[in-house]
Amino acid sequence: MHSNRWVRDTVDMSNVRVHVAPNGHVNSVSRNRLREGVQVIHHKPVMVDKVVSALALRPNGTYIDCTVGEGGHSEAILRHCDPLPRLLGFDLDREALSVARERLSRLSDSVTLVESNYSEIVRVASEWGFLPCDGVLFDLGVSSLQLNSACRGFAFSQDGMLDMRFGPSIGRSAKEVVNETDERELADLLYRLGDEHRSRRIARAIVGERPIETTSQLAEVVARSVGRSRGRRWTKHPATRTFQALRIAVNDELQNVDAGIRAAITTLRPGGRLVIISYHSIEDRLAKRILQEAAKLAEDESSPTLRLVEKRVSKPDAAELGANPRSRSARMRVAERL
Ligand code: SAH
Repeated sequence: MHSNRWVRDTVDMSNVRVHVAPNGHVNSVSRNRLREGVQVIHHKPVMVDKVVSALALRPNGTYIDCTVGEGGHSEAILRHCDPLPRLLGFDLDREALSVARERLSRLSDSVTLVESNYSEIVRVASEWGFLPCDGVLFDLGVSSLQLNSACRGFAFSQDGMLDMRFGPSIGRSAKEVVNETDERELADLLYRLGDEHRSRRIARAIVGERPIETTSQLAEVVARSVGRSRGRRWTKHPATRTFQALRIAVNDELQNVDAGIRAAITTLRPGGRLVIISYHSIEDRLAKRILQEAAKLAEDESSPTLRLVEKRVSKPDAAELGANPRSRSARMRVAERL
């Protein structure tokens, strides 16, 4: 069990009100819970120093954090830029945005947070006067706030209703996907989005046990279907890949990553930086392919749009791996707009 590793005192965010204007701007947040002195240990942002240097921050710059989460990377950007930059942050998750709002508004009043999909980056950035911008960051995946809230249904270590939606704008929950997808399609989903080689066996077991309502019920069904390894402890829970695949499917993550990165490239000024941190090989392969394509001489165009700043991925160093287990799978890629 590694519950609440980062959130020492779980904050009941149902009390936090976020007012979202029709254009998606979060313009007011009630601070009652945080004022009560509940101590929150935020999601630990990954490779912060590398992100800050990869963005090559400029005084008075304009930066877009596509996955603002609890605002860890955004805070680092604000702290490393003097005079303060303008910052635009996206998230689908209202709870995360309210935490980020609270945190970032202490540092700057030039922060705009929007409850919107980052695939809308061009429209939203243009609305808020962020085109062209000096840097865009994607820190993909799921936050500790989401993983550690049982009611969000992301983690097999937290018993809760299967949900996994990043935010209220997402249509189907994991419960619906698990219970309404036919066996073949489910097996295909687990294989494609989870790299799960036991996908058929797991899909058969899931279909046989439906309806499945909770995270622990699903974890148990998966564990039983693949058999517990005799005597040996699991290095990874056998449902890890199933949970990953469902989360990616529920939130259309690959489509969003694809559309988001392509669109983000067009928002950069020449010399502007694009930084992408991914957490599993499917995401990283996709990011790598898009960057490499943009960096190659296109046959029908005269010049590439990007330069790869580092040819290889960067990984967290040993100290960070020790201090933040979530960083284990992180891979960072950096490119510059030409
Ligand atoms: N860098 C952040 C953590 C980001 S975790 C920090 O330091 O706190 C990833 C975040 O991306 C999550 O909060 C998730 O809700 C958000 N997210 C995932 N897909 C998204 C999308 N398509 N559009 C906007 N936000 C998204």
